[in-house]
Amino acid sequence: MRLTVLGSGSAFSTCGCNAGYLVDGRVLVDCGAPVPALVRRAATSVHALTLILLTHFHADHSFTLPTILGARAFADPPAPGTLVIGGPVGTREYVNRLLSVGYGSHIRHEVDTKVAPTYVVLQDGSDVEIAGYRVQSHAVVHSTGPSLAYRLTDADRASVGFSGDSEMCAGLRRSIAGCDLYVCECTGWDGPSPGGHLWRDEVASLMAANPETRFLLSHLSERRHLPGALVAHDLLSLEIASATR
Ligand SMILES: [Zn+2]
Repeated sequence: MRLTVLGSGSAFSTCGCNAGYLVDGRVLVDCGAPVPALVRRAATSVHALTLILLTHFHADHSFTLPTILGARAFADPPAPGTLVIGGPVGTREYVNRLLSVGYGSHIRHEVDTKVAPTYVVLQDGSDVEIAGYRVQSHAVVHSTGPSLAYRLTDADRASVGFSGDSEMCAGLRRSIAGCDLYVCECTGWDGPSPGGHLWRDEVASLMAANPETRFLLSHLSERRHLPGALVAHDLLSLEIASATR
C-alpha cells in the first residue's frame, strides 16, 4: 500500500496545502488540496480514482471536489470505471451543493450524467468493502456536523488510518487500533487548539497508547518535530507494509 500526502497543512496554515491523501493512486481521502495538479506530480490522474472519502464537510477537506468531478465529466475519452464517493450522512446533498454553487446547474448535470458517482453513506461502526478496500468508519467529535475517522485495509492486510479533524474522543481512539500507519491531525503545538482539534501533547498520548502504530502528523499549523512520529509534507510518499503478514 502506498500513501501519498497531497496536502499537509491545516485550514489556514501556509506550511502546506489543505487536506488530501492518496492511497495506491486510486483512493482519495479528503479533497482540500489542489488535487488535479498534485496527482499528476504523484504520477497518476483524477481519472484513476475509484473511491473518494470525505471525513467531514469543512472547506479545507472538500472544496476541490467540484474540480475533480468536472475534470472527470469532461475527460476525453471518458474516465473508465465507476467513482464511489463515501462520507458522512448528507454527503450527496453537500457535494451537489458544492457543484451548484461552484459551477451552476449545467456542470452539475454533466457530472450527474457523465460521472454518475455512486454515493455511500458511512457512519460510526460501518465496516464495508469498497473498491477493493475494507473501509471502517468511526464517528469523531469536531466543530461541524457528522465527522468520521477512517481505516483502510488492502488485500495484503496493510492498513492506514485517518483521523480527519477531531478532538480527543472514543471514536478517535478506536480508529487507531490495529493501523500500521495512522495519519493523525496535529493542529496545535504549544497548547490546546480551538475548534475541535488535537495538539502535540494529546497526539503524544495517543502514540503512547498505540506503540505498534506508526504516526504521521499532518493537518499542521507549522512543521515541527515530535519524537517518535513522522511529520508530513506535501507530496511525501510512503510504502505501508502489514505488520501482521
Ligand atoms: Zn481541517
